Amino acid sequence: MTFDVVTIFPDFFRSILEYGVLKRAMAGGQASIRLHDLRHFTDDRHRTVDDRPFGGGPGMVFKPEPVFKAVTTLEAETPGRRLPVILLSPQGRLFTQAVAEELMRPDRLVLICGRYEGVDERIAEHVASDEISIGDFVLSGGELPAALIMESVVRLLPGVLGNEESAPQDSFTTLEEGSYGLRHGLLDCPHYTRPAEFQGWKVPEVLLSGNHQEIRRWRRQRALEKTWRRRPDLLADFPLSEEDRRWLDSLQRETREPVVQKSE
Ligand code: SAM
Repeated sequence: MTFDVVTIFPDFFRSILEYGVLKRAMAGGQASIRLHDLRHFTDDRHRTVDDRPFGGGPGMVFKPEPVFKAVTTLEAETPGRRLPVILLSPQGRLFTQAVAEELMRPDRLVLICGRYEGVDERIAEHVASDEISIGDFVLSGGELPAALIMESVVRLLPGVLGNEESAPQDSFTTLEEGSYGLRHGLLDCPHYTRPAEFQGWKVPEVLLSGNHQEIRRWRRQRALEKTWRRRPDLLADFPLSEEDRRWLDSLQRETREPVVQKSE
């Protein structure tokens, strides 16, 4: 999968490409990340990418021409094909694991990183195929959001994660069934490692039992419990088994917390 990142700060990405899954995916050939300096797509001597906003007011706005030129130059590499072009913007649709799973499908993505007051609105209207926000807060540029999106998409690509990491059982994942029988979209269960006792804090007995069926059951119940306590909204579309329902009912009786909406 190829990511084309259009930015005025290509160097911003250098360090994140030297660590973790992005580095591994590039070395393994699963991902290629190309950084394009927006200033290379300007025609004037000063390489101007921004201008004052029409109507007055503070700040500067990315001019449409360099962004348009960057995208058409990239599209010219694959004649006749429109590329998926994502404009990073706090006003876009919210990035979630489901969106990451959607973005891993195309073999190429263009990511446009804004700065200042943002990008001339005609880019959102006529050039971008999608606008994505990483949350309801404002950053100074689209570089961190672009890095975040690439990292979460790349770790889903087949062969990128090793055995020591596992995407299917991670929180929110719906791609395939995780190790404790949840194609879940829920929060992950708690994890523990050695020592079995630390500062008097003990690891749950069942995890030391070697009884794989019981461990699987415990993990499923804890994932359900965590989700129910912290993100009950995620349970709304989850196909609860009879056993799951009994477990949640028992928690509810114990804690007298609000009733969970049961799916049909
Ligand atoms: N004036 C814009 C607004 O209030 O909607 C904010 C512009 S922001 C300071 C500059 C750039 O940072 C944006 O063009 C976008 O590329 C990026 N950015 C900031 N917050 C973001 C977010 N939550 N998600 C994605 N991109 C964001």
